[in-house]
Amino acid sequence: MIGIARMAAESSRLEAKKQVEYFEIASRSILNRTKPNMPFRWTINPYRGCEFGCRYCYARYTHEYMGLDDALDFEQKIYAKAAGAEILRRELRRIPQSDPIAIGTATDPYQPAERRFGRTRAILEVFARERGRRLSLVTKSDLVTRDIELLREVARRNVLSVNVTITTLDESLARLLEPRAPRPELRLEAVRKLAAAGLVVGVYPNPILPLITDSEHSLDQLAGAARAAGAQYLGGGALFLMPSAQKVFFPFLQRHFPALEPRYRERYGENAYLRGEYPGLVRERVARVRKRHGLGAGPADYRPELWREEPQQGLLALD
Ligand code: SF4
Repeated sequence: MIGIARMAAESSRLEAKKQVEYFEIASRSILNRTKPNMPFRWTINPYRGCEFGCRYCYARYTHEYMGLDDALDFEQKIYAKAAGAEILRRELRRIPQSDPIAIGTATDPYQPAERRFGRTRAILEVFARERGRRLSLVTKSDLVTRDIELLREVARRNVLSVNVTITTLDESLARLLEPRAPRPELRLEAVRKLAAAGLVVGVYPNPILPLITDSEHSLDQLAGAARAAGAQYLGGGALFLMPSAQKVFFPFLQRHFPALEPRYRERYGENAYLRGEYPGLVRERVARVRKRHGLGAGPADYRPELWREEPQQGLLALD
């Protein structure tokens, strides 16, 4: 059994609710290094698994690593990482202050488990004592507004952007695609509150689903609503489908969009990433709606009130 599978098997149960069970899993590390081509150097995911159960979720493979079922268990066996704040404090001492860190890249940091176990909040409390870090956080949950005061403190000392994912404004489509995630209107309301609190906030319609959420009209509506709510920027990229995500997404298409299923199989069956002209067309479409609504492509840099420059190596050497 590999290390993470053994740790999952040894995890003590925190609580069981309906079909969802919560576990506490020991972690050796909280900061995960990314591949060099990513816009951030490190990621933090306080939970493994995610109750929101988005049909396209790419992170399902993480449960496969633990020897669990990547379809059902991913949504029903949620693992909260133990001692995340202590480990983070220790690990931060070893990495350059300028390294960008992203929270919630694999699983949602404000999924329902956070209401009970507060692992994301504990991580933010660590950053509220740091200075000069470059941080971002991504979520599709309005629970993020619970931590507005804490996020403001983090943003006073570090560069922070909050990215809210809204794939569509169509409530019934969102319910199909993301069955247990907060409604799009609640996410927009979260954008409003975060922006009103002076935080840097953007909206990501990710993943953009070919022939489902990719029309110019749908993206345009979303951009307009994001702008009206106070978002500063709009991102967006086409869906990629890892094999573990295909196992859930293809049957979902078969049931709800039967005409699309063979087309998706044909395009994604061989490769998780779309090839050809489509990714470029989507990028152009997003760029057009972004421009139309006066949104940026990413968070504008700002200098936090309590910023601290990273000490220069040369000066350190003189100490
Ligand atoms: S919110 Fe994110 S992590 Fe959770 S199921 Fe949806 S895509 Fe996956």
